[in-house]
Amino acid sequence: MPELPEVEVTRRSFADAIEGATVLQARLGKPLRWPLGVAPDQLVGARVGAATRRGKYLWLPVSRPAVEGGLLLHLGMSGSLAFSWQAAAPGVHDHFDLQTDRGVLRLHDPRRFGAVVWSEGLNAGTAAKLLAGLGMEPFDPRFDGPHLHAGLSGRRVAVKLALLAGDIVVGAGNIYACEALFLAGIDPRLQASKLSRPRAARLAQAVRGVLAQALEAGGTTLRDFKDAHGVAGSFQMQANVYGREGQPCFTCHTPIRRIVQGARSTFFCPQCQKR
Ligand SMILES: [Zn+2]
Repeated sequence: MPELPEVEVTRRSFADAIEGATVLQARLGKPLRWPLGVAPDQLVGARVGAATRRGKYLWLPVSRPAVEGGLLLHLGMSGSLAFSWQAAAPGVHDHFDLQTDRGVLRLHDPRRFGAVVWSEGLNAGTAAKLLAGLGMEPFDPRFDGPHLHAGLSGRRVAVKLALLAGDIVVGAGNIYACEALFLAGIDPRLQASKLSRPRAARLAQAVRGVLAQALEAGGTTLRDFKDAHGVAGSFQMQANVYGREGQPCFTCHTPIRRIVQGARSTFFCPQCQKR
């Protein structure tokens, strides 16, 4: 599943190239998670603005003097976006093309949990509704120990599940939550409300650090993620615990354990990570 770093890598791979382009045509394939919400013809002639990201959503302003708005895109479970000067004829899994005078932005999504949705603004209409429950951006300077500690307080669930919920901070998906908890030395089963302030500060720093590292590496390749130029990421090479069940911890050589929390695999070192 594409996570925040992969989505950000995707954004960076086409944002500069598409900004200022004029839409020539929008083509829909099979239905995605939600309907587009606008007639594709309405987008013709519109100008594409600067692509931004919020959580795992991308926002692409697509406006005409008469029609203000944009497209909110989500890669779902298996989606990828490619921007190319000339796209081949759409394949069976290519479900959205935004053809512009600078190239074609194409959503390839075999499982079709992805989405392209029209909204009159990022803070209005459909986008505002979809983004309403999202926590703080991990690279927002306001995301720090006190913010995380306040968010976790009063929650009786395991700290890992509280991170995964995404309503305190976005971006700590399964891989990154496992890795951040390892770096902070915190047992993923610890009850969220029992995390001390100093440990919350370490965890906030670890979340930011692991996401920054993944971004630098071009996103993870744990699935078959590729950015809009088809370049695979390399974060999996650096994972300390994720996907390493039974293998020795790089720090203490204790075998990494795998447990299931909320129907997702959690990997951790029973020696380095404390309750
Ligand atoms: Zn260890």
